[in-house]
Amino acid sequence: MMMDLSKLIGAMAITFTCSQAIAISCGTNFKPIENKATVMTDESGQFRLWKKEDQKSLTYCISNKFRELKPVIEKAMRIATQDWMNHGNIKFIYVPDADESCDARKGPETLFRIELNRSRRYRYAGRAFFPYDERNTITFKKKFVEGNFDSLLRLTRHELGHVLGLRHEHIREENPYRDRCMESDTFSGVTQYDPASVMHYARCGGTGTTELSEGDKLGLSLLYPFPN
Ligand SMILES: [Zn+2]
Repeated sequence: MMMDLSKLIGAMAITFTCSQAIAISCGTNFKPIENKATVMTDESGQFRLWKKEDQKSLTYCISNKFRELKPVIEKAMRIATQDWMNHGNIKFIYVPDADESCDARKGPETLFRIELNRSRRYRYAGRAFFPYDERNTITFKKKFVEGNFDSLLRLTRHELGHVLGLRHEHIREENPYRDRCMESDTFSGVTQYDPASVMHYARCGGTGTTELSEGDKLGLSLLYPFPN
């Protein structure tokens, strides 16, 4: 079904950030709609996104420390990466041959790595990074990998959203519960505020939806447009 784009934009939200150190192609082929989406920016408002030469080779390895949980995280990554790839001109590539060295101190052979934290005290369910951060790891807390698979899928989609440059949706000014969940304000709206975004914490006024929202999909397609 074809959707009226203006209605779709009105129905969604994504938030971005661009870093000053990384004057990326953010913004060169995308004109932000003022106050309408959520992407990472630097202080000058440049979007922090993967450059053209990298966006089609987002390679990753998965630590063997997942042990018996490895098939679970492999499946979650396979589904969640495909979801985002369906809506933007990006490509995630799993490199199983690099798993052996995924925990190596000198760094993985891939662009980023997936690791497990088994500590019950680890304070994050998942923790990711933004494009070109020094940190290039997504960390999952064990409890969430062995728990409900739909919740793990939502978490995986969320962390991959950060990897693609997306900020938390709940930091938008339009969120009436924003005060509960304040963060740095180096971001720019790309689509309209969207409580259904996977980038929105449920406890900060979000719907807690597991799937990518229409806003998430539109946002990604605006940030990483497919060639015409
Ligand atoms: Zn997050």
